[in-house]
Amino acid sequence: MDIGKVKMKIEFNRLDLQYKKYQSKLDEAALRVLGSNQYILGSELQNFEKSFAEYTDTQHCIGVNSGTDALILALRVLGIGPGDEVIVPANTYIATVIAVTENRATPIFVEPNDYYLIDPKLIEAAITPNTKAIIPVHLYGQSCDMDPINEIAKKYNLFVIEDCAQSHGALYKGKKTGSFGDIGCFSFYPTKNLGAFGDGGAVVTDNADTAEKLRMMRNFGSRKKYHHETEGINSRLDEMQAALLSVKLKHLDEMNKKRNEIADYYLKNIDNKAIKLPEIAKYGTHVFHLFVIQIHPRELFQNYLSKHEIGTMIHYPIPPYKEARYSKFNNLNTILKRTENESKNILSLPLYIGLSKSDLDYVIEVINKYDRK
Ligand SMILES: *Cc1c(COP(=O)(O)O)cnc(C)c1O
Repeated sequence: MDIGKVKMKIEFNRLDLQYKKYQSKLDEAALRVLGSNQYILGSELQNFEKSFAEYTDTQHCIGVNSGTDALILALRVLGIGPGDEVIVPANTYIATVIAVTENRATPIFVEPNDYYLIDPKLIEAAITPNTKAIIPVHLYGQSCDMDPINEIAKKYNLFVIEDCAQSHGALYKGKKTGSFGDIGCFSFYPTKNLGAFGDGGAVVTDNADTAEKLRMMRNFGSRKKYHHETEGINSRLDEMQAALLSVKLKHLDEMNKKRNEIADYYLKNIDNKAIKLPEIAKYGTHVFHLFVIQIHPRELFQNYLSKHEIGTMIHYPIPPYKEARYSKFNNLNTILKRTENESKNILSLPLYIGLSKSDLDYVIEVINKYDRK
């Protein structure tokens, strides 16, 4: 990531503050694992998987090595491969697309709506006889509109794989994201709403057969040690991460509430006509993984904030289909105007556990004083 970046008065993120908040319980869990004589596939993982399935309103949870692996294995277990097309949002993080191309399938990019979420109205036009699945991404912490997406999937007999890497705990019509598709994929990358102290991820599903296959696939295709029934890789959530995640899972709702309070404060107090604030869809709850505004020209504003020692980031500056590696999928009939415009104007403001009211007031004061003339 940003190695060697300049120190700011208000950093974009402060994971150390989150650690300090829950330090005694986290330290205790870490020490328990160190002395446990079991570091892979033990009781810590079993406990976490049970709790996380419960938390996400699903029957089964399988811990894996990362969110990217969760997505790769989800597509693979559903038999998606060469020649198959998978519909993805055009404005997602590259890992969603990597999951498709690692399985030698073809990503089909669809534009977002006003909430930065795949627009259900545009999905049907992207379907061909080769389409096998849709990956709705609950980007920035807000659920996609799952009812119309699932209706389309049913009509065309497509799988739905939810990318929940940014939406731990977010609700759609009162139910948790991850519980609407055939499979839900989570990342526990340290910055995510539920973040590990290293890499981690999980797959959730209500289908027992899919769950059992995934359990083997993440462990060399093995059910019994040194017997390898199916294809598989090494992608396990280790005991240390599982133990630490179990501690944090108990505080996830409280952390999401805190994120909402910060977002609310921004929404109520940012007062600058140059800035477009994020919108919250009425059908669900937002967990504000990111607080993304739009402003033009962005670079001027970002430099202004930087001069006032306020850290910001862009999620994401280059849409995946604009990357050279994916240029072969760039035979798009339509120009993805919205994605392209937004990628030039979006900017994420600091929002993290431990951001104080006085920090927030400072950020808001600096923003409200901005006048590009
Ligand atoms: C973080 C993220 C991923 C990948 O998760 P890793 O754990 O970093 O592999 C996938 N999709 C989205 C939308 C993400 O934000």
